Amino acid sequence: MRKPIETRCIHGNSDFSFQDANKAVSFPIYQTATFGHIGVGQSTGYDYTRVQNPTRERLEETVSALEGACDTVAFSTGMAAVSACFELFGAGDHIICSADLYGGATRLLQTIGQKNGLAVDFVDTTDIAQILARINPHTKALYIETPSNPMMNVTDLHACAKIAKENALLLIVDNTFLSPYLQNPIELGADIVIHSGTKFLSGHNDTLSGFLSCASQELAEQVRMIAKTTGGILAPFDCWLMLRGIKTLSIRMERQQENALQVARWLEAHPKISKVYYAGLPEHPGYEINRKQARGAGSMISFRTDSVETARRVLEKVKMITFAESLGGTESLITYPVLQTHNDVPEAMRARLGITETLLRLSVGLEHVDDIIADLAQALEE
Ligand SMILES: *Cc1c(COP(=O)(O)O)cnc(C)c1O
Repeated sequence: MRKPIETRCIHGNSDFSFQDANKAVSFPIYQTATFGHIGVGQSTGYDYTRVQNPTRERLEETVSALEGACDTVAFSTGMAAVSACFELFGAGDHIICSADLYGGATRLLQTIGQKNGLAVDFVDTTDIAQILARINPHTKALYIETPSNPMMNVTDLHACAKIAKENALLLIVDNTFLSPYLQNPIELGADIVIHSGTKFLSGHNDTLSGFLSCASQELAEQVRMIAKTTGGILAPFDCWLMLRGIKTLSIRMERQQENALQVARWLEAHPKISKVYYAGLPEHPGYEINRKQARGAGSMISFRTDSVETARRVLEKVKMITFAESLGGTESLITYPVLQTHNDVPEAMRARLGITETLLRLSVGLEHVDDIIADLAQALEE
């Protein structure tokens, strides 16, 4: 039987300790580019680090254990994982995506994806009818983020899995915002789960990484072939940092989520805040669906200020909270999506989505919640 997720964060799915001759408690960093052969045509199981390395293998097994995946490949960044994922498709293939994807994924699809002949439709995937309306004989995949970035829109993963199955599409879910601690799309029917491990999995705003977790051996083999061929894999030391970060994923997620709910309620009551987007608030339109498919709403909040001046003042006046891109770490960060993460998204598309100059995105960290609120309070003062 599978162990509880807190235990899997620390030990993977293994028998509680790896076989280390010296009984090291922390998995060793195999800082080596290559491995000697034990004979002609014989291998220790490791030949060259681009293909596999024990530290990376340990990390990949851990992430597989957390996501309920058949296999996982670790990449140097989240975007390396996203672009490897799109190598599964070729010229003429059609992909249906959530409209407010991570800005980097939108940019990838609109530049390199387009060059490679991929046809992409960005639709409001919270409305299943819109997905159905776009399916054509060339459609190969649904690409979903839920809750989405930065609008926190919730897409029904059960419904998407059903559509994917009926139409022989791959269901790909970027699970970065909730992490495997709160949501496991493969268990809901997804074929591939993507993570920017830079965020909650690393958890300390100090390491970049990305993951593709696959539901089947067949997909995993294709992904491994792409990783080996294009080479954007994660280095041994970074694999070790990721293993170290993941050990505390469960307690970090619990506390950050607790902080986020308090901050969201405080923001809601503030006269200079006109709207709060957080899937953990009962009035959020996706609250019920998120509750059905996830174990929480995480610690990402977007909110709208009463004016552009207020938004800019908050960014300039925060002291403990850092005005910086990225999310999911111990330090609280505040982002201006219109100028940062989503700057390359075409303006008309941004306006349609609500990514305007009054929208801010907050990644609630592990500081005491009173300090987070106090910092926002002073930053909102005129
Ligand atoms: C950050 C992020 C990415 C890209 O990951 P990097 O590690 O920055 O390359 C992809 N998807 C989502 C949802 C992200 O937040």
